[in-house]
Amino acid sequence: MTFVFSPAEIPSVRVQGDDARFAVHRIYCVGRNYAEHAREMGSDPQREPPFFFSKPADAVVANKASVPYPPLTKNFHHEVELVVALGKGGANIAAANALEHIFGYAVGNDLTRRDLQKQAKDAGKPWDISKGFDRSAPVAAIRPVKNGGHVTNARIWLKVNGELKQQGNVSDLIWSVPEIIAALSKFYELQCGDLIFTGTPAGVSALKVGDKMEAGIEGLESLLTTIV
Ligand code: MN
Repeated sequence: MTFVFSPAEIPSVRVQGDDARFAVHRIYCVGRNYAEHAREMGSDPQREPPFFFSKPADAVVANKASVPYPPLTKNFHHEVELVVALGKGGANIAAANALEHIFGYAVGNDLTRRDLQKQAKDAGKPWDISKGFDRSAPVAAIRPVKNGGHVTNARIWLKVNGELKQQGNVSDLIWSVPEIIAALSKFYELQCGDLIFTGTPAGVSALKVGDKMEAGIEGLESLLTTIV
């Protein structure tokens, strides 16, 4: 096949213990999935059905890379999240079978232009410009399930310049990983290569140029990101 210009590079994430990389197909995200974070965003953490938004696949940023402070925001936030990497796709996946579709897990940061998100919420407009902007999805190396099992009970945290900002446990997810996969696969036919950001615990805060973040989940590679 020939193209009128060279196609963009395939976005990908490193895999722990493997020279082969994980090619990213799509990035899906879950909103308000920890009760304390829902409260700090001014919502009532009822168990309403999970809701989703997405980021472009080429928003992924490698571990230890720098992210430029993005334009058109004065309130740029971090959100540490457990990221699920799918190794097998499907539509209408049953929660009972969902774990079979997971290739591995990683630490991610759902970078957010909070002021633009607030404006979108207030005006009933889409979230794309607040969530799906360039370089908005740093992700550390994926730990394959075959090397460490599933992540169900693990501390999740994020520090800015060494100061602890976010902290929780992935066992506190309002919607569990199998429930997320089941719900999301009703809306989309999922594919291997999809990444799912599963929501952030409380403690989100504003970033500034020069800030160094360290985000972690017990048992997974920590994610280091500097804002420049
Ligand atoms: Mn998020």
